[in-house]
Amino acid sequence: VRLAEQAEAALDRARGANAAGDPPGTPDAIALGAELARAIDENELVLFYQPKVHARRQEIDSAEALIRWQHPVRGLIPPGDFIPVAEAGDLIDRLTLWTIERAIADQLALRAMGHDLRIFVNISGRLLGDTLFAARVCDIVGATDAKLGFEVTETSVIRDPASAIANLQRFADIGVCIAIDDYGAGLSSLAYLKQLPARELKIDKLFITQLTSSNRDPLIVRSTIDLAHALDMEVVAEGVETHAALALLTVMGCDMVQGFLISRPVPRDALVAFLREDGNR
Ligand code: C2E
Ligand code: CA
Ligand code: CA
Ligand code: CA
Repeated sequence: VRLAEQAEAALDRARGANAAGDPPGTPDAIALGAELARAIDENELVLFYQPKVHARRQEIDSAEALIRWQHPVRGLIPPGDFIPVAEAGDLIDRLTLWTIERAIADQLALRAMGHDLRIFVNISGRLLGDTLFAARVCDIVGATDAKLGFEVTETSVIRDPASAIANLQRFADIGVCIAIDDYGAGLSSLAYLKQLPARELKIDKLFITQLTSSNRDPLIVRSTIDLAHALDMEVVAEGVETHAALALLTVMGCDMVQGFLISRPVPRDALVAFLREDGNR
């Protein structure tokens, strides 16, 4: 109990530190890192799934895996509270390999239930340029025929473009669908966009949540959709919360939508229930 209390206190302080914008690496973050290492071993991490649906047909295309920590004392902890700690404390590679393996198992389970949809995993930018990590990922992914996708941000490519692009190409070569995440929110470069073996571009929710009340967001979103289509990519809008936004995105030719309007991220069983309903519509 004492250990759990200490961890809880450390978590509170880490939250405060994160909110203040301090980089993780303080003693508290290190304590939380140890707690996280234990959590990985003891299977306290869980994947929730949020569907991506076709804007026009409203059918489910795929789902994104979003990690949570089911903490014995604290309850469900969102990724923003522990991913930065994992990244700072060298746990992110273990955590990501765990996530990929879990996503593969869930994809195959869904397929066995008649729902063969692609599962997308978020890959931390810290790992994208790591060639050793990429080789381990290729070993795991190459050994299965599960339908997978990786979501990566452009900012993470810019860190080490040559290695990142080479690694992404290796993933694409073994059938992983690459999606550019958070498009427009970080460092963007049209030069890299052209070189990436990406099939999907996800417009950041920053431009979507106020789409119908802003003057500029619709212009930015429309030109991004046109740009992506010119580069032969499908466009996903994330953060779709209203029917008005969905309608406007559909008119603009956005291919897919994701957001609370359609579904929040839910446990795998709830995704299955959602898929059954989708099939019965
Ligand atoms: P992201 O990849 O951009 O994921 C989208 C976030 O927006 C998710 O937050 C999701 O729950 C939330 N969201 C979805 N629909 C809506 C909406 O309609 N409105 C609003 N306001 N928000 C919406 P979540 O699950 O807390 O994840 C936060 C971030 O943590 C993710 O951002 C991703 O960068 C990271 N993350 C999540 N899972 C993993 C993982 O397995 N590995 C790594 N490396 N990062 C992860
Ligand atoms: Ca697709
Ligand atoms: Ca994502
Ligand atoms: Ca995002």
